[in-house]
Amino acid sequence: MTIYHNIAVNRPIEQLFSYAHASALAVGTRVVVPFHNTQEVGIVWQSDITPDIDIQKILPIQTVFDKEPPLPPEWIQLIEFAAKYYHYPVGASAFVALPTALRQAEPFRLPEPDAYFTLSDLGRQQALPRYPKQLALWNALFSGSLNKAAARQIHTEAHKYLQKWQELGYLKTTDKPQHVVFQQKINLNREQDTAVKTVLQQQNTFAPFLLWGITGSGKTEVYFEMMAEVIANGGQALFLVPEINLTAQLLERLKRRFPAVETTILHSGSAKMARCQDYFRAMSGQAKIVVGTRLAVFTPIQNLRLIVVDEEHDHSYKQDNELRYNARDLAVWRAKQANCPVILGSATPSLESYQAALNGRYTLLKLTQRAKAQARLPEITLIDVKRQKLDNGLSSNALKLLEENIKNDGLSLVYLNRRGFAPALFCGDCGYSFSCPNCSAKMVYHKYQRHLRCHHCDHKIAVPKSCPDCGNQDLTAIGIGTQRLEETLKKRFQSAHILRIDSDTLSRKDDWQKIRKAIENKEINIIIGTQMLAKGHDFEHLNLVIVVNADGSLYSADMRATEHLFAELMQVAGRAGRAERAGEVLIQTQLPHNPLFTHIQNHDWQSFADDELARRQTFAAPPTVYTAAFRADAVKLQDALLFLQNAVKQFVLPESVVLYGPAPQLMTRLSGRERVQLFLESKNRPVLHAAVTQFAQILEEIQTGDIRYAIDIDPYEC
Ligand code: ADP
Ligand code: ZN
Repeated sequence: MTIYHNIAVNRPIEQLFSYAHASALAVGTRVVVPFHNTQEVGIVWQSDITPDIDIQKILPIQTVFDKEPPLPPEWIQLIEFAAKYYHYPVGASAFVALPTALRQAEPFRLPEPDAYFTLSDLGRQQALPRYPKQLALWNALFSGSLNKAAARQIHTEAHKYLQKWQELGYLKTTDKPQHVVFQQKINLNREQDTAVKTVLQQQNTFAPFLLWGITGSGKTEVYFEMMAEVIANGGQALFLVPEINLTAQLLERLKRRFPAVETTILHSGSAKMARCQDYFRAMSGQAKIVVGTRLAVFTPIQNLRLIVVDEEHDHSYKQDNELRYNARDLAVWRAKQANCPVILGSATPSLESYQAALNGRYTLLKLTQRAKAQARLPEITLIDVKRQKLDNGLSSNALKLLEENIKNDGLSLVYLNRRGFAPALFCGDCGYSFSCPNCSAKMVYHKYQRHLRCHHCDHKIAVPKSCPDCGNQDLTAIGIGTQRLEETLKKRFQSAHILRIDSDTLSRKDDWQKIRKAIENKEINIIIGTQMLAKGHDFEHLNLVIVVNADGSLYSADMRATEHLFAELMQVAGRAGRAERAGEVLIQTQLPHNPLFTHIQNHDWQSFADDELARRQTFAAPPTVYTAAFRADAVKLQDALLFLQNAVKQFVLPESVVLYGPAPQLMTRLSGRERVQLFLESKNRPVLHAAVTQFAQILEEIQTGDIRYAIDIDPYEC
């Protein structure tokens, strides 16, 4: 008998391909099929179909990976939704969502099923071990069952005791994991308690929540408490975080809070096979907590009962190539599919989520106080740097505070979101400056590496000895980068321990572990850091933050720049004064009268958000309208422009959709290509999507040669 199947393959074509097999295969099964003279891995998307092409031409499926469990129907639905919503081919979308090992035309060897240990009847009659860690292990074996990995989370030497106790007949093995959730020791405060109860009341329904809690208000404890309940009831929780290599602290807290609960951590840094095993552990229901960055939103989770999106405003949830999805939005979709609550948490929620809370789509939960009684919000001072002479970017007030803080053994953070030594190198005579040959951007001067580097395409050249235009040898570095701050501060405070942390100094994960220990042991006086440091790090004794330059975004043409700056400043300021010591924050700006700073000084996100929403309303900008961007690029600007212009000519603009452009992008040239874009906007999402589909069809028909294009739904960039 021959059964026909539609197979999704990893090609950017809006199409499934038909293949034959002797029996019906389950949807979601991975297979290998012949494809244009090669072999291609595919996923059975539809089984037992009636082909709409000549069956003589249909080739047989070559290999079936029948030892692997098929991807579940919920996963297929999720991919179909994402592909349709973000206008990306379904096959290619599916493969974006899979771990690398499953994108290859090779079978994956599933790990042996784990053995779980629990106390035998004999074991239950024994005297309790005396040492705390052994006792913890014993208690966990008493009240549940553990595999070796979970046991090791409780006691690093667990294997020794498991072996010993097994030899003594105190243990029995079972293949049924039973997860032990230890009792919380912290007493939640009233706001935290309300938040937890409100969410847990809706445990078995789709219920989206926006948890707005100031930094240090105990959001993480709230997540943990809800997870504990869900896991105790046999469910699984998905916990999304912005960037994993910088969430070591969070992972340690998870481990401490859930010592005996199997947790998988999915991120692009983990080894290929390990990542794939974690994927299957989540899919089989074995791992109870699934932590990961944006890609983890696609993990199949058999018994999904709760989703948490931490720092939901973070732009790293949006992927900006191929399938341009937003993991935060897909998380909400998944919660709906799984009929479970989803919590979007932040100290500075996105305006999208805030608007949804205002119009009742999301339930707003608030944490308005810092959780630790002693911890107070830092005092924020503005320094108007227009009237001041700066020493390499630093005002005298800043230097004075730093000096005092060194004397008092405090920890200071000097924050500047720009790495390198200086953003530009100039000729003092003719004004020549060095631009990247591939991009519309200046090359950044990296003094120690002795090169100029483009931060967009990574093009590097050695620092020239003289101006290529006039031969003058006096080249001046303009502007301030973290390297320059480091040099200045080291000169000034010679006995202080100063540490620069940015992606240039921090390439490996274990570097970070070492650095963190040094900071925690109070071996450091001043940290110089970029945004990668501002995210989610708590150093209890950090009591002074200097923001060197906050103004860049206030001049930006990007609608979202202010929202972004507000979140960034709140986040940096929130680092100060987490514990007993009162914190102090100094912001250097040329625009001290900008209302944004008043809201920052008042720690008043809500007023800021209300102002900003009103402004967006006036300008008919997102989130008060829905937007889709069409971006095209070519070697010649004219070609890219003409391509979009021609499409516009053929396009019938529906009523209630507005079209802007086409026009060159803000950064027109990138990696040697000229980039243009146009926007479609509407207050009505379905109408917009119909228009996007229509426009996309035109583009597909008229695309030729060198032109590349992409569709970006709910874009961030402008
Ligand atoms: P957030 O995630 O909102 O920044 P955290 O959950 O990290 O806040 O809490 C900040 C600090 O306060 C942590 O050290 C945490 O252990 C502590 N904390 C949280 N909730 C409480 C509570 N109810 N009682 C005492 N300490 C708490
Ligand atoms: Zn470049």
